[in-house]
Formats: sequence, C-alpha cells, structure tokens
Amino acid sequence: MQPLIDNARAFGRRPEEFATLAAGQSPEVLFITCSDSRVVPALITGARPGQLFELRTAGNIVPPYASGTPTGEAATIEYAVEVLGVQDIVVCGHSHCGAVGALVRGDDLSTVPAVRDWLAHAADEPRTADPADPTVNEAVQHHVLTQLLRLRSYPCVESRLTDGRLRLHAWYYEVHTGQVREHRSATDAFEAL
Ligand SMILES: [Zn+2]
Repeated sequence: MQPLIDNARAFGRRPEEFATLAAGQSPEVLFITCSDSRVVPALITGARPGQLFELRTAGNIVPPYASGTPTGEAATIEYAVEVLGVQDIVVCGHSHCGAVGALVRGDDLSTVPAVRDWLAHAADEPRTADPADPTVNEAVQHHVLTQLLRLRSYPCVESRLTDGRLRLHAWYYEVHTGQVREHRSATDAFEAL
C-alpha cells in the first residue's frame, strides 16, 4: 500500500495539469470492463482524465435491465448515455478472467455467495473448447457478446442504437501480451484492432 500512497502524494503536486477538468467532463466512450487489477483501461487506450467513463464489475457483467430495481450499473449506463451522450460503448473482456473461469469450471462458490449470485447474472452457459485452457478466451469472447445483448435491453441504449447515435464494441484483452482484439461482425470473430 505504501508505494501507492507515495505516488498519490506526488500526483497531487501537479494541480496545473488538471485545472481545466473543473469545467466538467465530456467523455465520448463508456468503457465497461472487469474489476480485475490487470486490466487498466487508461493504460490500454492511452486515455487522459476526462476521456473514458468507466463501469467496472466482476466479470464485466451487465445485469439485465429491470425497471424499478435500482442498480449502480443501470445508473452508470443511463448517465453515460443520456447525460454525457457517449457515442460509443466498449465492453472489454479479458484473458484469465476469474469470473468467467469460475463459470467454465463450475467452481463451488458457496463461501462467496455474493459472487455466486452475481455470476448467476451471466445468463448464458459459458462456452469453451478446452476447460483446462487458463486463458478461457473462447468463453470470455462469447461472454462479452452476451453482455452486448444485455446492453440492448436498456431503453436508453436501444433508442440511440436505432437512430445511429450510439455504437457498441466487443473487445477482448490479453493480460499476458497486451494485445486487444475486437469482434468483427463480418467474420463473427475477434480480430486484432
Ligand atoms: Zn475478469
């Protein structure tokens, strides 16, 4: 922890770099990814403060839209779309994902019931050709596409997709190489960006 505190102290000694951020934010992208510490959106994309609006959940799961049931995820998505007017939403899964791996392996999650119940939101059965593959890449990629479908169940997302004001992107990030792939609808495959 101490190195992080030291860096945070040093970071605050450069206020002039951030003064303009007081005027507000106008990010163009909502970036939805896993809480995994190996995935650092600003590092991957080179984004500066103000450029990425982020939603991080265990397993980058987007819960099904349910009107009348308040969730932090729905509030974040709605604010990004309706108030900030983001033009793109990226859902970024990653290799070696613990959440997707637990689903693939059918891990006993009885000691972490909140995790178990949250992963139940993943809906589709995870697919993989090789359950022993530590990257679980096939399952993660399928899982990311499922989350894009979930996003479409949000009224604010669906309406803006319909009139062309919003685009959805499915990304897959390899934590051990840094490579990013995007799903291409033409080939129905994840290919290099
Ligand atoms: Zn993960």
